[in-house]
Amino acid sequence: MQIVAGIDLGGTAVNYTFLNLQEQFLIDGLCEYPARAKEGPAICLQQIMDGLAAAAKDVGIDLADVPVVGLDSPGPASAAGVLSQRGSTNFVHPSWSGYDIPGNLAKRVNKPVTYLNDGNAGALWGHFVLFGGSGKATSISAIIGTGLGGGVITEGNVVKGSRGYGGELGHVLIPYERITAIRSMKPQCNCGRFGDLESLCSLTAIEKCLLPFFLSLNPTHQLAQLGDITRAARQVRGLAQEGDAMCTEIFRVQAQALGLFFDLMVNTFDPDALIVGGGALETKEEFQRWFIDEIRAAMPNQREEQASIPIHVMPNGDTAGARGAAIEALKFLRTS
Ligand SMILES: [Zn+2]
Repeated sequence: MQIVAGIDLGGTAVNYTFLNLQEQFLIDGLCEYPARAKEGPAICLQQIMDGLAAAAKDVGIDLADVPVVGLDSPGPASAAGVLSQRGSTNFVHPSWSGYDIPGNLAKRVNKPVTYLNDGNAGALWGHFVLFGGSGKATSISAIIGTGLGGGVITEGNVVKGSRGYGGELGHVLIPYERITAIRSMKPQCNCGRFGDLESLCSLTAIEKCLLPFFLSLNPTHQLAQLGDITRAARQVRGLAQEGDAMCTEIFRVQAQALGLFFDLMVNTFDPDALIVGGGALETKEEFQRWFIDEIRAAMPNQREEQASIPIHVMPNGDTAGARGAAIEALKFLRTS
């Protein structure tokens, strides 16, 4: 029996999964182990190994039956998984600078280790749910969390790019001036630029741009009384779901930003599917359907052949990274 492992390395936790050749996952939910990334790569790598052994034991498999390990992590990292010299918010210990995580892990496990950044791993999982692990479909995934992640899968393969920045969808500029509700706003992104997708479509966008803007128009709103914009931003989704007018408008702006972005993607990739996921859509199905309809309504008219490109909601946000990493490992195994 051959099985591949998927390892999702975050700053605080490592999440594991296993995938067999019949494309069945052997772990349903989260299977976590502490990452201890703050203490540097030596300790963190040992944690990854210990957690992998524990996960294998839980599932009842022998790691000798695992020929390939898939890894994903937050970046910035090269396409091969070498962390940026400038460091990373999730890997702050100085020894992480320029560290080759998959290369060093491969030496420890004595097996090939494939690598994806967490956004691309999530996108590959979303793609897999619709199209399976083989096949030649093309999809674009936008994952709305603290930032805006996601990725591009063309003809079944993740677009990693030459420097590892392929599929950095959050920093694609969109024609935001077309969104009438925010005409006088200049949405600023953490990347230093303004008017990209993440500057309007992320939890950070709600906190930094959208909520302050809409509260200035609605000074008596209950969220203005909180006096804490970070806490207030986290309540916008719940209030929007309950039908609060201002919070609904904030989500409508996010949907409109996504609609404009998806239009760019439709005309660039002619995809089989568009996929939306992330914390923003961990909501009732009714709200998800409304959000998808708003995205669709914000897309400029398509040519007739492309008007039917479906927009899907991505399932299982928490396990997406590990599952995407495992799918990449399975693809490697099949082609090697
Ligand atoms: Zn940006």
